[in-house]
Amino acid sequence: MVQEKAKILLHRKIARDHYRMRLKAPSAARGARPGQFIHIRCREESPYDPLLRRPISLVDVDPTGGTLDIVYKVMGLGTRALAQMPEGSKADFIGPLGKPFAFPPKGKRAVLIGGGVGIPPLVFLAKELLKKKIKATAFLGARTKEWVICRDDFRKLGVPVHVATDDGTLGFHGSVVDRAAESGRVAPATRHFLGSRDSAASVAGDLVFYICGPTGMMKAAAALARRRGIPAQVSLEERMGCAMGCCMGCVVEVNTEPVGSHARFQRVCTEGPVFPAEAVLWR
Ligand SMILES: Cc1cc2nc3c(=O)[nH]c(=O)nc-3n(C[C@H](O)[C@H](O)[C@H](O)COP(=O)(O)OP(=O)(O)OC[C@H]3O[C@@H](n4cnc5c(N)ncnc54)[C@H](O)[C@@H]3O)c2cc1C
Repeated sequence: MVQEKAKILLHRKIARDHYRMRLKAPSAARGARPGQFIHIRCREESPYDPLLRRPISLVDVDPTGGTLDIVYKVMGLGTRALAQMPEGSKADFIGPLGKPFAFPPKGKRAVLIGGGVGIPPLVFLAKELLKKKIKATAFLGARTKEWVICRDDFRKLGVPVHVATDDGTLGFHGSVVDRAAESGRVAPATRHFLGSRDSAASVAGDLVFYICGPTGMMKAAAALARRRGIPAQVSLEERMGCAMGCCMGCVVEVNTEPVGSHARFQRVCTEGPVFPAEAVLWR
């Protein structure tokens, strides 16, 4: 983990309210892993307005070229200021931070379920899974087609992508979790499997879910995984203060090992953001 002032090599609008930024950050790029994030100052000229940095996940990392990419949505004060930073200026960040996704054992297939700005970390994950010869399928959810992001990133990797929009303007009309649930890869013993050589149990037994997005979506995807007996990891997006484990601003209640024992508070910035889905006490 480093603190760096990194040159902004690229900063482009990629969808309505969404931007992609590439930082020249060779030291951080060397050890970065999928699921990790950077904590970035949103202004160069008046770095303490806003006072707090903002956590943003890594969407891609090139250790050879020494670059980190992020994709973010303009939400409020911080990301609005971030969007004003020109290419060529310097962004001050700390990272990579947080516990990454755990890779599944060989022979498993990954189902990536992302909603909104929960999608970017799944792109970096897909890239690293493919290097390990683990196949992945992506299910992406957005409110409307103008907010669908990263579809081309998955396509470039050769990962099959299924889109769902709340208003039906692109892909499946409804929730991304419903779209994943009705996929032949994830469905229980339904008509999808009639005539198939695979039994539902053997298909589910091959799978592992990786989930990131709004809380309601993650809760529904975690419930789907539980019903189907599929192991799942979720990446939580709590609001953060320090992102270094000191301020306790981002704690969530989780079951500690063994799962089902007493709940404890854990910090999303340091014990997370990735947790086993069954450990999270959804509210
Ligand atoms: C580990 C982690 C990884 C993240 N990765 C990404 C990413 O890759 N791309 C991206 O766009 N965003 C990501 N986020 C969310 C991002 O940090 C927030 O959107 C950002 O901090 C908002 O700052 P702001 O100053 O623009 O908004 P604020 O002015 O602080 O808030 C504006 C609105 O956004 C809401 N909001 C702020 N932070 C969050 C949050 N964490 N979750 C839900 N609602 C929030 C507020 O409640 C408010 O309604 C991530 C968050 C975490 C914790």
